[in-house]
Amino acid sequence: MIEVTTFANAHVAVFGLGRSGLATVHALKAGGAEVCAWDDSPERRDEAADAGIDLADLYSADWKKMAALILSPGVPLTHPEPHWVVRMARAEACEVIGDVELFAREKLPNQIAAITGTNGKSTTTALTGHVLESCGRPVATGGNLGTPVLELPRLPDGGVYVIEMSSYQIDLTPSLDPDVAVLLNLSPDHIDRHGDMAGYIGVKSGMLERQSADKTAIVGMDDKDSVGIFDKLNSTGRKNIVPVSVTTPPNERARQQGYVVEDGVISSQLDGKSEALVDLFGAANLIGVHNWQNAAMALASATALGCPVYDAAASLLSFPGLAHRMEYVGRIGNIRFINDSKATNAEATSRALACFDRIIWIAGGRPKEGGIEALRPEFHRIAYAYLIGEAAGDFAQTLEGEVPFTIAETLDEAVALAAERATEEAACLGGDAMPDTAVLLSPAAASFDQFANFELRGNRFRDLVAGLSLLHRDEIAVGGRV
Ligand code: ADP
Repeated sequence: MIEVTTFANAHVAVFGLGRSGLATVHALKAGGAEVCAWDDSPERRDEAADAGIDLADLYSADWKKMAALILSPGVPLTHPEPHWVVRMARAEACEVIGDVELFAREKLPNQIAAITGTNGKSTTTALTGHVLESCGRPVATGGNLGTPVLELPRLPDGGVYVIEMSSYQIDLTPSLDPDVAVLLNLSPDHIDRHGDMAGYIGVKSGMLERQSADKTAIVGMDDKDSVGIFDKLNSTGRKNIVPVSVTTPPNERARQQGYVVEDGVISSQLDGKSEALVDLFGAANLIGVHNWQNAAMALASATALGCPVYDAAASLLSFPGLAHRMEYVGRIGNIRFINDSKATNAEATSRALACFDRIIWIAGGRPKEGGIEALRPEFHRIAYAYLIGEAAGDFAQTLEGEVPFTIAETLDEAVALAAERATEEAACLGGDAMPDTAVLLSPAAASFDQFANFELRGNRFRDLVAGLSLLHRDEIAVGGRV
């Protein structure tokens, strides 16, 4: 745990008692603060009480004596409208911040890498941690992914904290000055919480704009909004801004002075001179161009933090991958079963579809705005679709006449039907001539209609696949050149 010493003997309100809220209460108390903790949900309050936390109804609290309100990132700060607890704090000019801000104010003698973007944050955070660790650095990863920051261990000298930052967290973290700040990409997301796209971009870019001049910013150059942020940072005369591009052809800035990935090969670019560093087709758990972006970002980060570039590049190949993100779970014949349950929107699923020539697709859940219309350019890859959950009807309408499908209703039924098809196809099409085929769970929808979260949906898929009688579980080179 990282004790919070900056509020010793002060009264602090903590609102939102999920995992990070509970960690915050413990860290504040360990540092000597008087904590008033509350949550709107009676279940959360019961859990907190069971964890030994004293509760205090913040609705009737004396806000005049509060030094700060520590807000869970899930609680609305500004949009669609400020939560009542935020309004009460602001009425008494009490600052509203988050757990990462408390972490930042401790000014630990370690380097920090902070990673944000619309998609790929968790993968890049885990991958950066993996690369640093492979290069012999003590590492702790957390934040939006996995362990809340205040629950991370104290690291020895030379250690690095790698922190995933959602836009909600950045909004609550005004003084974080990371040694390396990574912006992967930007596309519309969480607009309800930021008012509009400009608000969302403003929050994300703030993390890089607030860095001191000697710190490093690493920017993905493959969407126009991120390029806009690069140009803005560049116009301030800052030196250490590293552009990274994975498109074909690559962004020109990245080709001059950054990192590019072409046909799976990451190369560094110095004054227009290119040096090939690693071929990502050898990385079994970094399938697809989107993962090449994550890999190049992680490599750029680790190098900026002092890792030798060749060691860092080589270690990308041994990344074990993250569960529920293009996770290989087994095969029947040459047909691989892939768990991409984390793909809860069309943008993420489009990346997954682009990875295979032929797909037996399992999709659906609670639909997102726009459905799967954006996936039309990838429909030619889908041999058959099994649709589940509330989105099945909508998705069926979009697929009608283009992709054959069955409404399977449940994941159990979909896996049974997809496995039957895969078994038949593996028997008929087997051998070298077989196109690169996958049974892919990449739902393009939220899980909440049938599962509490995407993890449980992915776990169920993995369990169902593990129960298939013809399944092989060996590690085949999922990302290998075919
Ligand atoms: P995040 O933490 O930002 O939600 P994850 O690393 O958990 O991102 O990946 C979530 C999904 O987003 C993955 O299943 C994948 O389909 C897609 N994805 C991952 N990296 C990228 C990227 N760099 N660009 C676009 N999509 C990505």
